[in-house]
Formats: sequence, C-alpha cells, structure tokens
Amino acid sequence: MGDCIFCKIISGHLPAHKVYEDEKILAFLDINPVNPGHTLVVPKRHFESMIDADDGTLSELTRIAKRLGGAMMKGLDAQGFNLGVNNGAAAGQVVFHVHYHLIPRMHSDNLQPWGKRTYGAGEAERVAAVIREKLALL
Ligand code: AMP
Ligand code: ZN
Repeated sequence: MGDCIFCKIISGHLPAHKVYEDEKILAFLDINPVNPGHTLVVPKRHFESMIDADDGTLSELTRIAKRLGGAMMKGLDAQGFNLGVNNGAAAGQVVFHVHYHLIPRMHSDNLQPWGKRTYGAGEAERVAAVIREKLALL
C-alpha cells in the first residue's frame, strides 16, 4: 500500500485530473486514455482487486460509474461506454488498487477490445458446471 500510485493520488501526493470525489470514492482521468475522457473510478480505501473489496464498496463504485457514464454520453457526445475491471496480472491489472475503467465509445472509434473463440464439444457444459459448483461455496 505504501507504494500505491492511486493511494498517492487519493492523498494528494500525486496530481490527477479529478472528475468526481466523495467521502469514499475518487474518479480521475486515466493518464493514457483509450479514448479522451477514459476515467478510473477508485475507492479511497486500498483493496487490491474486486476479490478483496467488500460488496458495499463495489456497489458504490458501480453507482458512481453509472452516473459518470451518463455524464460522458451527455458531455462528450459518447454514443456508449465500456465499464471494465482488470482483476489480477493475468487479466492485465498493473495497478493493484481496485479500479473501474470507464471508457467513452463512439461508433467511429473502431475499437475491438476482445478476441473471441468457440467452445469444443462438451467444454461449455464442463466449464459452466465448475463455476456453478464453486459459486455455491462462496
Ligand atoms: P490496470 O491495467 O487496470 O491496472 O490499469 C491501470 C491504469 O492506470 C492504466 O490504464 C494507466 O494508464 C493508469 N495510470 C497509471 N498511472 C496513472 C496516473 N498517475 N494517473 C492516472 N492514471 C494512471
Ligand atoms: Zn492504493
């Protein structure tokens, strides 16, 4: 937590272009935006990822992300927005302080963020069963 970039932004030790702040949440522009207005929504309390954060914090992040998404559509003429969270290095997480990426989208931006594949025979059934089984234990 001592070296956390986002904790330093929250405490005012590093600068950021803030777009929203309340007692629990801060939102600021991503320094390397996918599109202009790309915003990071972060809890002021340090949690590594969604797995560590409590449900109340995650629901607050989602509530604020929804408002910010509406503001982007009105203020930036965005035609839509993506909400994304990288949880873990394998998922592309680089800053280990949980954050929602909110990315304004335009039909003309031609971004293709996800590659897609198909399931092999029986694979979808097996995968769904494993997730259902583990979910029942959490
Ligand atoms: P992630 O890969 O989900 O961990 O994303 C981390 C994001 O933080 C990246 O999109 C970076 O561009 C962004 N970022 C890193 N340092 C800063 C900073 N000082 N201010 C704003 N955004 C930052
Ligand atoms: Zn932090």
